[in-house]
Amino acid sequence: VSDPAGWTVTVDRDRCIGSGLCVVYAPGTFVHDDAVKAVVADPITDDLDAVRTAVEACPTRALHLVTHEHQG
Ligand code: SF4
Repeated sequence: VSDPAGWTVTVDRDRCIGSGLCVVYAPGTFVHDDAVKAVVADPITDDLDAVRTAVEACPTRALHLVTHEHQG
């Protein structure tokens, strides 16, 4: 999932254990599917700080945040 703000977040579903922490910290970004594994919402409605908190909170490091900083 890409975002015009210049960052992308992905879920490694093989690592996700369904703890739900990302869903708590960034409910506008991560949701659980029928298998209780995280998927990235579309569109993402959280700001980057919330997403960053969720990524860092994941106990299995299943979330990956990539930022693409572009200067003028
Ligand atoms: S915090 Fe990590 S392990 Fe927990 S649901 Fe989200 S992606 Fe899965």
